[in-house]
Parts: sequence; structure tokens; C-alpha cells
Amino acid sequence: MAPRDVPGSSPGTRELMALFAPLRFAARQDGAGLERLAGLGDTVRGALGLARRAGAPESPALGRLSAEADIFDRLPAAERLPAVCRMAADLGCLVALPTDLGALARRGRIPQAPVSPAPIQPSHVRPESRAERRARLATPLADVPGAHHAPRALLEERGRATVEDALEFWPKGWQDRTHVKRVADLQTGEPGIAVVTVRSVRRQRMRNGKPMLKVAAADGASRLDLVFFNPPPWRHKQFQAGETILVSGEVTEGYGGVRQMTQPEVEKVTEGDSASFGRIVPIYVGPADHQHPALRKLMKRLVDEWAPFAVDDLPPEVRARRRLLGRAEALAQAHFPSPGTDLAAAAARATEPFRRLVFEELFFLQLALALKRRGVRQAPGIAFDASPERLAEVRALLPFAFTGAQERAFAEIASDMGRPEPMNRLLQGDVGSGKTAVAFAAAMLAVRSGWQASIMAPTEILAEQHARTLRGWLAGSGVELVLVGAQARGREQREVRGALSSGRARIAVGTHALQEEGVTFARLGFVVVDEQHRFGVVQRARLMEKGGRPDVLVMTATPIPRTLALAFYGDLDQSKIDELPPGRAPVETRVFGDTQRMKAYEAARRELAAGRQAYVVYPLVEESEKVDLADATTGAADLREILAPHPVDLLHGQMKADEKEAVMARFRSGETRVLVATTVIEVGVDVPNATVMIVEHAERFGLSQLHQLRGRVGRGEARSQCMLIAHFANSGRDARERLKTMVRTQDGFEIARADLRIRGPGEMLGTRQAGQPILDVADLYRDEAILDEAREEAFRLAELDPGLKRPENRAAGEALERWAARLSLARVG
Ligand code: ADP
Ligand code: MG
Repeated sequence: MAPRDVPGSSPGTRELMALFAPLRFAARQDGAGLERLAGLGDTVRGALGLARRAGAPESPALGRLSAEADIFDRLPAAERLPAVCRMAADLGCLVALPTDLGALARRGRIPQAPVSPAPIQPSHVRPESRAERRARLATPLADVPGAHHAPRALLEERGRATVEDALEFWPKGWQDRTHVKRVADLQTGEPGIAVVTVRSVRRQRMRNGKPMLKVAAADGASRLDLVFFNPPPWRHKQFQAGETILVSGEVTEGYGGVRQMTQPEVEKVTEGDSASFGRIVPIYVGPADHQHPALRKLMKRLVDEWAPFAVDDLPPEVRARRRLLGRAEALAQAHFPSPGTDLAAAAARATEPFRRLVFEELFFLQLALALKRRGVRQAPGIAFDASPERLAEVRALLPFAFTGAQERAFAEIASDMGRPEPMNRLLQGDVGSGKTAVAFAAAMLAVRSGWQASIMAPTEILAEQHARTLRGWLAGSGVELVLVGAQARGREQREVRGALSSGRARIAVGTHALQEEGVTFARLGFVVVDEQHRFGVVQRARLMEKGGRPDVLVMTATPIPRTLALAFYGDLDQSKIDELPPGRAPVETRVFGDTQRMKAYEAARRELAAGRQAYVVYPLVEESEKVDLADATTGAADLREILAPHPVDLLHGQMKADEKEAVMARFRSGETRVLVATTVIEVGVDVPNATVMIVEHAERFGLSQLHQLRGRVGRGEARSQCMLIAHFANSGRDARERLKTMVRTQDGFEIARADLRIRGPGEMLGTRQAGQPILDVADLYRDEAILDEAREEAFRLAELDPGLKRPENRAAGEALERWAARLSLARVG
């Protein structure tokens, strides 16, 4: 039957029909023509471009075709014919196919061999159902036929128990062994690889008497010596004369001009080992060099025989639009990159397979957030009165005018509050930027509309400080504010809780005590969570449950870099206060060595003599709590003498709440001049007369903590100083980099960026579960551009198909659950 070429048929038909010939050619003699067919992918891509330009409508089939075309030219030979069949099948959805191509298309739709779930036998045939394919990849390594014990154990020890887990054990680097040089061609002073035969092995001693192993080897006439210092016992048994080995390391010139490698990596060469030779080979973290050949062999096998079963969870259109490799292909290339791959780019994971894998991870993270945000938006919430008169009225309660940045943030919040959808907004602002005032004004909008508001702070001291500040601003307004304490017992707290449940008290301030069961609200409409990073998303959810669908404002003083905010709070709208209240002088920051402590104390003395106050902060970590506390206690005792007659007080986490409050009250009133503290003062304390911050063991603090601590001074107009005392002897490179960053900048966002680079996102968010990084392949510092693309696609998909019900999105829907669990998003508030 001839192809129908009906004049007036749908746009793009003619352009698509131009593909009949190349597909037919590709499929000739059961794929024999494929060897000689160059650039079928390009041909298809070109035709699709023309078809689209001619007006062919976007459709799943067209999307799938594009995606196939994108990767086709890089497919291994064995995968090409099935891909041609699939392309024929997709083409058949768009235009009527001639008979021969129709037959091809049927092979593309239906698996070519019957598929039975058991016994598990990998093959190149792709079973049809996604569930079956997922099940296959979930096969335990123990059930992989022919998987050797040693490499399997290596993977299992690292928690990689299934085929899929093993495939996601990413290499840390690659080595190009496509062409191994001859020894004679190795350049001294550069890293090199050579295949040599062992001639002799000798134990020697170095001049200092330490043992050393010298292996004489050669390829043909060119000699290469291998030198190992302090060799472990197994090294001695590693070399047998006559054996062929591959060595890799820095080439130097030894005695008499003989080329030499010191401490090279060594692998045994096995005849026909295509996993470790003649290609770019992966190097994994952990396994020793001599364990690599077997590990690679297993990986190669998984990549060849199992990876093709990988389900591509990304919707085909997304893949096509973003030109992403298929998952199977990406997995394969992540381990065994195609020849010619730029190894530097690979090491930076800036290659196509990793772009695909990173995209996938960020896409599902964003999709979860996008769908959640949609859900929150759609349920009805409260519309508060946010008229200009109301705004003016609550602003007038404050003793100062908002800065421009505060005003902008307030306007954004108020505009959300005026609408009936529940607000879910993140308010970011550097320490001291005046977030509390904005939150207060917003809370008063809720109160004036007849609702209650709650403000949750991370520590009791901070809750008390907020309560005091807000009561001051409320004076004369007739609005009752209660401080919810940790203990429910006692008459006072019973009364507080009663005032909230009756609705008499309009604003509740407290710590996580606010979430306790005994705390109920008559009409909770507005929730502020201060210092978000300390609570995490689960608490946010719990507090929201106390109200119907309250508006939520999350405040954070740890400036969250844009990427991190998008990646993990992408469900929140954001406001930013990027300007400090007027009259703040920058804080002078210096680093002192342990032995220069007296210089810091001298500087402190001068400030104290001028009537200022000082903080001295000691680290406190749980593992060494006792020692740390002793440090702070002796520190305080010493300082009492050194800084006499200025009164010194000590504040630490083991004190009772009322003791702590008494210490704070004395410091606030100026009765004590020096506050020695473990990190309890870290967040939010506001004593403008304090101009000195001394941090002991500064090398033990994280960047954002140091930034927070420094934010305690420089709150008034006087010049302030921050002095970081570091014990360099026991600090690493990261610590030095942190301290340098502190001296260099006061910009919270820059500091947060540096922090992200040094520490990674998991710890920064404080949600890293033991040993389980939140993100696997993506790196928020590096992959900002991919995050943007993934976010755009995820939000688009959430808009177009929120139920993920369309056939082409079903895989994404199934995948989402697994990703959500993996990214611990299951209970995001
Ligand atoms: P944050 O919570 O962002 O760390 P705060 O709300 O504690 O900052 O504000 C820091 C200090 O600046 C407080 O003493 C506060 O009263 C004061 N403040 C806030 N906004 C202004 C403003 N617009 N003008 C003057 N002072 C302000
Ligand atoms: Mg604050």
C-alpha cells in the first residue's frame, strides 16, 4: 500500500513522511544497514524541526520521537534497531505508515520476546510494563547471574544492595585508557598510564631506614621502575615476575635516567577485559586500585545488561525540550563515558549523562514542591483586612519608620493576607534587618481582622525577648499578648493557655511549646515561625494544624542562597529584606591565634572602659558537652579577674529558664558588662550597647553560626568589633576558609554562598539524616542553571497535569512517590 498523501492533511504530514526512507534504510536486513548509517538521529531531528515549523502540533508521540532522535546517534549498536522500531511506532501515531514500516512499528510497540517476571534473566528485550522494569532493577545484586563475590561485597558494604543502587554508585573520576602510551613516550613530570611487564621485585630501605618496595618493569626495551614507600604486606604479594600490569601515576626520572612512578595505582591486566581497557574507565571512591578491575567488570555488566531496563521517569516532552539523554543511556555513560569525552568536564560532572541525572533529581524535588504549593493554594484560607488604612494603622504602632526593604516585604505579605488563599511565605533577612517588626505588623493585621496570631521562636530567651519587644509596641493598644512557657503546669501557664483557648489573648509567643497538645487557639489565623532552619518542615506543618488554614510566615536570619531556597522551599513565596535599618556601622572582624587571646581582651577592656558591653562565646557540642561547659566556666572565672572590675556573668544551656532570664535581664540592664555564654545567645538577642563579640574556638563554629554571633553586635551606631580566637593546630582547611570568609565580608548572602560551597546543602539546612545526603548527584552550588530549568519544567507540568494522569506523565507520577520519600519530602509542611 502506498502512503496516503492526501492534500490538505494535517500540517507537517509531508515533512514527517520524509522520514519513511531513512527509517526503512535503517531497518534493512534486520538492522545490518545501521552500521553504515551515519547520523540518523540528526536526520530525524531535522525532519521534526521542519514538521514543527510547518505547524505539526506538539504531542506525546512527537515528543518521544524528538527524545529518541536526540540520543540515537550515541546509542550502542545493539540498542539501535529497537530504537528505530520505536521511532517507527511513534511516527505511526502521527502519520499513516506504509506496510513495511507498519510491521517495524509493531515491533516497536510490542516486546519481541515473551516476558516472564521470573526467573530473572536480563536480556536486551525491554519488557513492556514499567512495573516489571522497575522490579528488574530492584533485583538484589546477589541474584545477578555471574556477579562475582568480591565486587558485589564492595557494593553491598556501601549500602548498594540492588542493581539500581549499584548503578547509582557514581564514579569519582575517570581515566582515559583508549590509547595507552608506550613507556618511551611517557612525559616526565606528568601523570601517565602504561602497560608493562614485571621483571623483578626488590625490598629495599630508604636512607631513613624505612622499608620500600622497588618493582622493575618494562614494555619491550623501555624500563619503568615502580616505587612504593612503607608498603603494606599485601603489596609484596601483588607483583609476580612475568605478569602484565597497568600502572598509572606521576612519571619522574630516577637514577640513571630510568623512568619511575612513585606510589602508582596498579591493576592486573586480564586478556580481553573490555571494562578496564581500551576505553575511558571509571574510578570509584573507596575501593582500592587493585579491586577496580573486578568492580568495573561488574559495573559494565550491569550497565550493558540491566541499565537498558531503567524506566525513564521524565516525561518525554521534557526530555525532548531540554535535550536530555534517556535514563538508561545516562546511567551507562555516567560509568563508561563515550570515547572523546572531556575528562575535566566529566570530573566536574558537567557532561550530558550527569546533566540528565542532576536534572532528574532536581525535577522531582521541584515537582513535589510545585504540587504541594498548588494544593495549599487551592484550599480556601482566610482573607484578612489589608486595606491601606489598616496597614497604616498597624505601622503606626512601631516607634520607627520601616526601611524601604521592610516596607516592600510588608506590602507583599499584606497582599497575600488580603487574598483568600492561605499564605505560605518565606521572609529572609540578614540578622538585625528588622524581620521581627515586619512580622509583628503582619500579625496585627490578623488581630485587627478578629483572628489570633502565634509567633514561634527557636529558644526561650528569644521568645522572651520577642514578647518584651512586642508588648512594648502594643502598649496602649489593648491587645493581649501571652508568653507560652515550656511547662504546662503552674497557675500562670494554665491561665495563659486558657486565655488562648477562650480567644481573649490575641498574640501568643513561645518556643516549640506552642505546638504542644495543651495549647489550643479559639481562632488562630496567622502563624509566624522564626528562624526556620532550626525547626524544619515537619514542625511547620504541626503548627499549621492548630488553626484552620492559617497564613504562614516563615522567617529566617540565615540567608538562604537562592538555589537552596528554590530547591527546598520552592513551595514558599519569598520576600527579602536586603537593607539594614539606618545608622548601623560595619563590624570590624579580626582573627587571633590561641596565644594572642590577651590582645583581644585588651581591645575588650577599652570598650568596657568606654561604657560598652561584651559577649564572650564558647562552643558547645553535645559530644563534649562536659568539657565545653568546663571551658566556659573557667573562661568566665578567668575573665572576672582579667576584666575586673567589670562584672562578668555566665549563661549556658543547662541553666533553668528563670536563671537564664535573670542573667539576660542583668546584661540587658547593663548591670553586668560581660556575658560569657555557650551558644545559647546565638540567635536574635538584641542589646544595642554591646559592641564586642569574642568567639573562643572559632574554628569549631560553622559559618552561619559565626555570622549570627557577629550579628549580636553592631546593632547600635557605635563601632563594633568581632574577634575570632582560633586554635589553628587542630583546625582543617575548611575552618581556615570559614574564618577568612568572615574577615572578608559581612554580606549574609555571600556568607551563605560560601557556606553552601564549604558544607553542602544538607548540613546547612540541618536536616541531613545520618549518612544520607539529601541530594545524590545534584550540587546546588554548581547546578544552579539546571535547577532553574528543572523548576520551570516541574511547575509547568504541575500546572498542566496536576494529577499526573496523562499516559506520558504516569511514570513521573509513580516516580514522584519514591523521590519524595528519598528527598524526605513526604511530610513537608
Ligand atoms: P531581625 O529579627 O531581622 O534580626 P530585629 O527585628 O530584631 O531584626 O531588628 C533589629 C533591631 O533593629 C531591633 O532593635 C529593632 O527594633 C530595630 N529596627 C527594626 N526595624 C527598624 C527600623 N526600620 N528602623 C530602626 N530600627 C529598626
Ligand atoms: Mg530576629
